[in-house]
Amino acid sequence: MTVRTRIAPSPTGFLHLGTARTALYSWAYARHHGGQFVLRIEDTDVARSTQDSVQQILDSMAWLGLEYDEGPFYQMQRLERYHAVVEQMIAAGTAYRCYCTPEELDAMREAQRARGEKTRYDGRWRPRLGRKLPPPPEGVKPVVRFANPEDGIVHWDDLVKGPISISNEEIDDLIILRPDGVPTYNFAVVIDDWDMKITHVFRGDEHINNTPWQINIFRALGAPLPKFGHCPIILGDDGLKLSKRRGAVSVTAYQELGYLPEAMLNYLARLGWSHGDDELFTREQMVQWFDGSHLAKSPAQWDPAKLAWVNAHWLKQADDGRLAALVQQQLGTRGVAAGDLEHLARASALFKDRCTTVVELADWIEMVFVDVKPRDEELAAHVTDAVKPAVRTLRDRLASIDWDKGTIAAAMKETLTAHGLKMPQLAPALRVLVCGRAQTPSIDAVLALFPRETVLARLQHV
Ligand code: GLU
Repeated sequence: MTVRTRIAPSPTGFLHLGTARTALYSWAYARHHGGQFVLRIEDTDVARSTQDSVQQILDSMAWLGLEYDEGPFYQMQRLERYHAVVEQMIAAGTAYRCYCTPEELDAMREAQRARGEKTRYDGRWRPRLGRKLPPPPEGVKPVVRFANPEDGIVHWDDLVKGPISISNEEIDDLIILRPDGVPTYNFAVVIDDWDMKITHVFRGDEHINNTPWQINIFRALGAPLPKFGHCPIILGDDGLKLSKRRGAVSVTAYQELGYLPEAMLNYLARLGWSHGDDELFTREQMVQWFDGSHLAKSPAQWDPAKLAWVNAHWLKQADDGRLAALVQQQLGTRGVAAGDLEHLARASALFKDRCTTVVELADWIEMVFVDVKPRDEELAAHVTDAVKPAVRTLRDRLASIDWDKGTIAAAMKETLTAHGLKMPQLAPALRVLVCGRAQTPSIDAVLALFPRETVLARLQHV
């Protein structure tokens, strides 16, 4: 058997972190088994689906590096196929047309509530042996309902949650085709998983209640059942469901906040799965390890501090040339033109160790291109009368030396000797004046990143 997995987002918004995690598990599982991973866009909610969302989903998948082997398939391009299966099912007696109007359904539910019963479709249009149905009313466009088995138990061994059983008595006859000919999720998903030969379905556990219907439809069609794995939701750091109101929940947002895709994958993977005590791993390692075991049954909590730590780790490992391009892009969004990638790579190498995100890295490097405004307290604390003469001497020396780290360091040493000062007196003054802050990496290396003219100009008003 070839393992085939899929991710099936609805394009009614960005790619949610929960969906990204499911996509990651599905992708890694397929890769681990040498199988295939399929992308399907579930766009049957016509009113809420947008091309913008489709594009965001595709961009996010590409950014995360979750390459799919087939797709994207679009459900709205498969309507003929769904209609054909619906006709077959009606002919086979596993589906039927229902002509209830919305008013009738309301009245049905009202009466059930009044009797203290659970509200459900009462099967009034379901064909039964020896039952004569009324003629279809004029002018009512029917829906098609699935004739769900009325007894027995639906059982599956969930890859994440273990054995789950639900009695068919709990489930009513689900609408599978709307009056406008658009299928509902639970039907289209089955036909697609069947046609696309999906063997393993990973998805969020909000779908657990849908799975019995889906299993019954697979059975009614004589289609092979995939295995299901329902991953618990991700909780926000406040213990409530991760939601937009309380912070970023889209992959795109984290991209914009300056996180690296390898860090997002690493962090998302650990939110609901473990491999021993490993906290930091590459995608290759994940593929090697991800065999569907050690998936957590209970919800994981989003931990921004841990994500920052993971990102800081991968930022340190990242190639400086790659960071340079990301910093350039980030500065570009701030209207700061920084054209020399080799220069930005040197700057990235110098600052990346003290940053958590690309945005922070750009915050550091921006000072090379944009005027800084040292705070008065810092000026008073560090640019004292005792060091000012030394700063002037150094400025004069810097005006004529070769512009590289070693020569700058030598000029600083000579200045210190000439003025009988120590580095901890001079360096903070230079940092405050040139960088606008009292702490930076080694000051000779930092100064060498700036154009000489900029350094001279910032040391001028002493
Ligand atoms: N379109 C569904 C969703 O986004 C897919 C669920 C599934 O994977 O079956 O939740």
